[in-house]
Amino acid sequence: MKKTIVLSMMILFSIASSQGASEGTESNPLLMKWNTPHETAPFNLIKTENFVPAIDVALAEARKDVDAIINNPEPATFQNTIEALEVSGEQLDRVTGVLFNLNSAETNKELQAVAREVSPKLSEFGNYVSLNEDLFKRVKAVYDKRESLDLTPEQAKLLENSYKGFVRRGANLQGEAKKRYAEITTELAQLSLKFGENVLEETNAFELLITDEKDLSGLPEAVREAAQQLAKSKGKEGWMFNLQYPSYLPFMKYADNRELREKMYRAYTSRAFKDNDYNNEEIIHKIVNLRLEKANLLGFKSHADYVLSERMAETPEKVNSFLEELHEASKPYAEKEFKEVADFAKANGLKGDLQRWDWAYYSEKLKAEKYGFDEEEVKPYFQLEKVREGVFELAHRLYGLNFKENKDIQVYHPDVTAYDVFNADGSFLSVLYLDFFPRDGKRGGAWMNDFRAQSNINGKMERPIITVVTNFTKPTETKPSLLTFDEVETFLHEFGHSLHGMLANTVYPSMSGTGVYRDFVELPSQIMENWATEKEWLDLFAVHYKTGEKIPAELVDKLIKARNFQSGYLSERQLSFGMDDMAWHSIIKPVTEDVISFERRVMDKTELFPHVDGSCFNTAFSHIFAGGYAAGYYGYKWAEVLDADAFSMFKKNGIFDKATAESFRKNILEKGGTQHPMELYKAFRGQEPTVDALLERSGLKE
Ligand SMILES: [Zn+2]
Repeated sequence: MKKTIVLSMMILFSIASSQGASEGTESNPLLMKWNTPHETAPFNLIKTENFVPAIDVALAEARKDVDAIINNPEPATFQNTIEALEVSGEQLDRVTGVLFNLNSAETNKELQAVAREVSPKLSEFGNYVSLNEDLFKRVKAVYDKRESLDLTPEQAKLLENSYKGFVRRGANLQGEAKKRYAEITTELAQLSLKFGENVLEETNAFELLITDEKDLSGLPEAVREAAQQLAKSKGKEGWMFNLQYPSYLPFMKYADNRELREKMYRAYTSRAFKDNDYNNEEIIHKIVNLRLEKANLLGFKSHADYVLSERMAETPEKVNSFLEELHEASKPYAEKEFKEVADFAKANGLKGDLQRWDWAYYSEKLKAEKYGFDEEEVKPYFQLEKVREGVFELAHRLYGLNFKENKDIQVYHPDVTAYDVFNADGSFLSVLYLDFFPRDGKRGGAWMNDFRAQSNINGKMERPIITVVTNFTKPTETKPSLLTFDEVETFLHEFGHSLHGMLANTVYPSMSGTGVYRDFVELPSQIMENWATEKEWLDLFAVHYKTGEKIPAELVDKLIKARNFQSGYLSERQLSFGMDDMAWHSIIKPVTEDVISFERRVMDKTELFPHVDGSCFNTAFSHIFAGGYAAGYYGYKWAEVLDADAFSMFKKNGIFDKATAESFRKNILEKGGTQHPMELYKAFRGQEPTVDALLERSGLKE
């Protein structure tokens, strides 16, 4: 899932609106009541210049409401403090919901300028709330008497979230400790920024310019063209490659010239590890040691303990044994796969040992030989309209949902379609926008988001407004939109997130739908991908767009085998990153050991290749040192284990089994973040997840 950070923040701090716009804003469509179907945004009335004034008004209202909570002369209660904080913010949420959804899916220079202008105001307000000592006093007053309050479990969870949110930002610290906490936070932010800048600088510093066409041997035409474009854009003759993924990966996969592959590989893996201004080694030490100090200040043994206390996995011990278990299972397969590629390479003329820069190259050729099929072979069976019908039919069979296009709902671009979604009994469930095709104003990738989350406070049910945005090939006058298999999986994935949003049935919006722990949020999306290789489902819609013939069973079988190609090796790679991440963040004493020796110590047990001098993985491991994945990288594998384990229930009971689906809906999709995810999961599955189903699905089990 790819929610915009600011948007999730707004949901988190969900603050305040009341009636009454200030002068000059009466006619601002963003601030008016929307007399539209389901109060969807009136896109035809909203103009770019409406956003800044509307957000200013909404922010002022929001601040007034927070101040009203703080200055309330009555003693703090759950209703006048915790719930007041939660129910406020309709106006600000509504306006920022429109802004940030549009800024992702249909933006332009002016709208981007609006987003840049309001973002600091929004984060300033976010800080005003989250670091507000007076507000914390009232929250704490309620929290301290929670036992005597007779709260529902969901209210208790909301109170706990609110209180812990403050405490995790240092609200309980006093004097020196508080000061130190603030220093660490500032320094960590700067260090992470610097880490990322160094990686970027080093990525951009390298260019490989090829002037002899012979050196392009093996590279597909499209790759050559892109390389020529790149050279041209830099005012050079020839073909240029760099360390950006779209350039680097195809080069490593296809270039016959081994020396050049080695050169590219060494450049890639020595980023921020050279003796220059952009070296990240010292920064890594500083980051992990400061994270440890911060965790200690907040009463945790390690940074991993701090992070995982708010995750389904709960403790470093649990994550480590999870990684270890998968490692033991994957290792023999990874070794076998390694040997297979090494033998294949030798048979195809490789001299000497198989090196890292040979892996992608020979693997690609081996894969083509073993499971080769042309993407074009599959696409005719996946006409977009038919896939969409298949996906809707799946939701119908599982959850009884019905989708009806509603042309009265305004859309922000003619390519977007809006649906009313109904339950089996005819009651209204949700609005769903589908926005499939790329265009200039849309960012890449695919995502689900909401314009409005579901809530049900004081008996006032608000059904959600959900959007799914992708970048699938647009149909032409002569050819329909035909999806690749990956795109079918992407559709199912984002649709799974949207089901989490649409079927939500909680009281409070901050815990509704996808408002769950990070290592739980990909279960509803990834489980849907499992249907992509189920012949029984494919036969409902996957017919050749010209002949009407059903997708052949052998083709589906090939898809499955190709998906599992080198799954042992890939598993080991992912696990080694997870183990490395956990090692850096489970330290309980400051680290002084060299980055490279730390790295080798931790990652050697998953290593299959000889070491390459001058290469270091961690100095460019932005996920954990510049991004938000510290003590969280394991989450990728964790989510796979969950979705495979959960899907095994459907495998056992039938892939359209209504009772299993009903249980998944009631225990997981409807519950959002109102209970600990392990409780929810066990209620569905009857036990904690095990790795067996994943191993079986990936072919890592005899
Ligand atoms: Zn996702």
